[in-house]
Amino acid sequence: MKAGWEAVIGLEVHAQLNTQSKIFCACSTAFGQAPNENTCPVCLGLPGALPVLNRQVIVCAGKAALALGLRINPRSIFARKNYFYPDLPKGYQISQYDRPFSEQGQVEILTSERDEGGRAIEWQRKRFGITRAHIEEDAGKSVHDIGHPEKTHIDLNRAGTPLLEIVSDPDFRTSWEAYDYVSFLRRTLQYVGVCDGNMEEGNLRCDANVSVRPRGELALGTKVEIKNVNSLRFLQKAIDYEIDRQITVRETGGVIVQETRLWSERENRTYTMRSKEDAHDYRYFPDPDLPPLEVSEDWIARTRASLPELPEARRQRFLDDYGMGADEAGTLTAQRELANYFETAAAAAGNPRAAANWILTELLRELRAIGREIDSSPVAPEDLGALIRLIDDGTISGKMAKEVLGEMVATGETPAQIVERKGLVQISDTAAIETIIDRLLAANPREVEAYRGGKTSLLGFFVGQAMKATQGKANPKAVNELLRKKL
Ligand SMILES: [Zn+2]
Repeated sequence: MKAGWEAVIGLEVHAQLNTQSKIFCACSTAFGQAPNENTCPVCLGLPGALPVLNRQVIVCAGKAALALGLRINPRSIFARKNYFYPDLPKGYQISQYDRPFSEQGQVEILTSERDEGGRAIEWQRKRFGITRAHIEEDAGKSVHDIGHPEKTHIDLNRAGTPLLEIVSDPDFRTSWEAYDYVSFLRRTLQYVGVCDGNMEEGNLRCDANVSVRPRGELALGTKVEIKNVNSLRFLQKAIDYEIDRQITVRETGGVIVQETRLWSERENRTYTMRSKEDAHDYRYFPDPDLPPLEVSEDWIARTRASLPELPEARRQRFLDDYGMGADEAGTLTAQRELANYFETAAAAAGNPRAAANWILTELLRELRAIGREIDSSPVAPEDLGALIRLIDDGTISGKMAKEVLGEMVATGETPAQIVERKGLVQISDTAAIETIIDRLLAANPREVEAYRGGKTSLLGFFVGQAMKATQGKANPKAVNELLRKKL
């Protein structure tokens, strides 16, 4: 950022809650159905149809709010947010306004600026406030450019899908803080199982409010909203672009206009979408069709008790218990399934360090190659643990183990079955290796003489020959030791 300036960034994240049915009717929330298949009089907004709140939405919202350190209000109110849009047939969206489901949260996360190559420079713990998280319904979708270029189609399958809108305090000063915060939110919501967090598919959407001010000034500059950014990286780039743009406008005597802008990934810039409405333009009022939502202290306590270990706590535990580096622990806890996989494999192997290495270097690469995620890995974590045991007890070498892992991915067999079938057992029998080495030394007298004359780099040559003579089955450690002794 240009010297003398400071950016102020606030973030609004819309998380689609994982429920089978919509928020106010029994229609399915399944993705990918034929247009308007999942609709009924309630979500079509037909006159006289009445909404009934889905209990599961409150269960999901409760878990999310508590995981993000928010206070759940014992009583919250559903309100109508009035605006006209073709994909909103009722003419209003049911949301929450002055009495939201939850408010006053705070999260402490690891964040870092990045260098040119995107690598973290220095991880620091920072606190960011969350103003509120309220429950609302999603609108439908306008679909352009299918068949009739001059027409717009309306698909209301998404209308009435439950959302949690999480509004942060304007606490972020850089695009990377915003990036780390949204990435933290996504991870947390995935961990507690309330949102898939897929930004590309739109079940996690993020809008950023960005303004700039001269460093040291307290008054806020005019803010611009950036909407509909569908990946974390684009969000970061869009914020950076917007900060630079606003500083340039201000420095050249221009004025920032309050507006909504969109990010163009093709042109790497933001552009104007529309001038922004103020809250009073929506004429919010309590929805007369829905009673106030009341939750008991007891329900809140039970929901809190049902939460799993959260990602930040787990990352810290991995650092403390397994002696990992911050990046390693971060990667292994980024997904709950991956962290679970690691812990099962580490226990089965009796060697957490090796389990972490094998997962991060070999297994994830193998899975990428076959387009699988960790939760559909053909290699069970217990089997990866068994493979590591075979290396540790000297049955097979690390090199053989890579070959065995490849077979495990392809066939789903256990390492013991593959080792047996392929006759891969490592030769650790000293007598057998000695015989091979004696033969080798006899066959290469000139190299032996050179080695003894001081050319010790030839050791590698002898090791290579011994491994070749045993088709890679000799225990490399034993080969090295015996060679040194004999030479
Ligand atoms: Zn419906």
